[in-house]
Amino acid sequence: MQDLRWRVFWVLFFLLLLCLAVWPIAGPKTALALFALGVTAYLLSHLYWLEKLILWLKNPQPASIPLGSGVWEDVFASLYQELRRQTTSQTQLSSALERFQRAAGALPDGMVLLNNHDQIEWCNLTAETQLGLSHEQDAGQPIAYLVRQTEFLAYLQGHDYSEPLKLKSARNPEVTLEIQLVPFGDNQKLLLCRDISPLEKLETMRRDFVANVSHELRTPLTVVGGFLETLEDMDAGMPETTRHYFHLMQEQTSRMRRLVDDLLTLSRLESSPHAIQEAEINVPVMLRMVLTEGQSLSGSHHRLTLEADESLNLTGASEELHSAFANLVTNAIRYTPDGGEIQLSWYRRGGEAVFSVRDTGIGIEPQHLGRLTERFYRVDSSRSRATGGTGLGLSIVKHILTRHQARLEVESELGKGSVFSVVFPADRIVSI
Ligand code: ADP
Repeated sequence: MQDLRWRVFWVLFFLLLLCLAVWPIAGPKTALALFALGVTAYLLSHLYWLEKLILWLKNPQPASIPLGSGVWEDVFASLYQELRRQTTSQTQLSSALERFQRAAGALPDGMVLLNNHDQIEWCNLTAETQLGLSHEQDAGQPIAYLVRQTEFLAYLQGHDYSEPLKLKSARNPEVTLEIQLVPFGDNQKLLLCRDISPLEKLETMRRDFVANVSHELRTPLTVVGGFLETLEDMDAGMPETTRHYFHLMQEQTSRMRRLVDDLLTLSRLESSPHAIQEAEINVPVMLRMVLTEGQSLSGSHHRLTLEADESLNLTGASEELHSAFANLVTNAIRYTPDGGEIQLSWYRRGGEAVFSVRDTGIGIEPQHLGRLTERFYRVDSSRSRATGGTGLGLSIVKHILTRHQARLEVESELGKGSVFSVVFPADRIVSI
């Protein structure tokens, strides 16, 4: 820039020197006229190149850049270099973008880029096939207009994307998709979708297998149990040891029957994870029934009490909730030594409804608490078996609660007792 200024200065300076040299020969008027002429010509040349520059800027192509003269040669040369630099970085950027799009396009999973209004910005070929989108036609369209399933719309609007969503494909009901939304940047989202049909098929096969085996075992077990009972009743003069063996055989048969029943319940719950028969439930009445059942199971070995908020009801599946509540009470009785206390409570906590079972039983060490709802997880296997446990009770409870959008909270202290609480969300509450 400074160089440029000097160059303009030197041009004007030499013009001035020329005029001063002319002055003594041709007189002051001619010298001044010469100076004015020189300055005007110089200005006109600048105007000429400025016009050229403005013209070129309307379509700035490197090939058509004017050559310029004097200081303008430098101006155009700098512009040319800058333009070349920009073109190179633009080419590099577009090729990087193209490479990224090709890599994303080759992904076996579907990928859709959504802007802050949930409109499609870009999607790969897999997403086009799986979700029935078209990158060319649907760019700029809201995703909610194109993927219309209610579960998807609820997931999109729910803003809780911690868990993926399982969705039956609208184009092919045989196909199950797993959809995960990943928020990024300024309220933008990445939608990832995966075909999990083979996994689902495998899971269905496993469920069907367990259900079928359990079903097939049920009849022979009932027959064996019935015969054992008859045999035990038939021979009055049976030796004491044989009677004892019969008793043990019967005990084991009924344990197996309970196992089979629990396995069947679990597979029934698993095969329809969301569908429940919704109805209004009078929870205090249900809890009084659970209390009576508990009292008869305990046989007056424990003190059972119930405190229920009579104005608090729920909507849900009555039979399922009865079974879940009864399961918690049965556990409290089985894991509380004789003379212990068991308190059932039904109350409001914040906006939620809570059913809790507090016992003064054996308690549970903290490291087991997180695993209690796993199938066949037992803290003490021999005690569980001795009290008729199958190891599936809490896993059934958890399934039932998930179907009711409820959660299980467990607090316990070894040797002091436990509190199992079922917490229902506000939208399940019916107040009277
Ligand atoms: P189980 O048939 O063995 O009782 P559950 O699934 O009902 O199976 O319970 C899992 C395990 O949790 C039990 O084996 C027991 O160790 C523990 N448990 C459940 N309820 C209680 C309780 N109220 N007090 C102490 N331990 C409990």
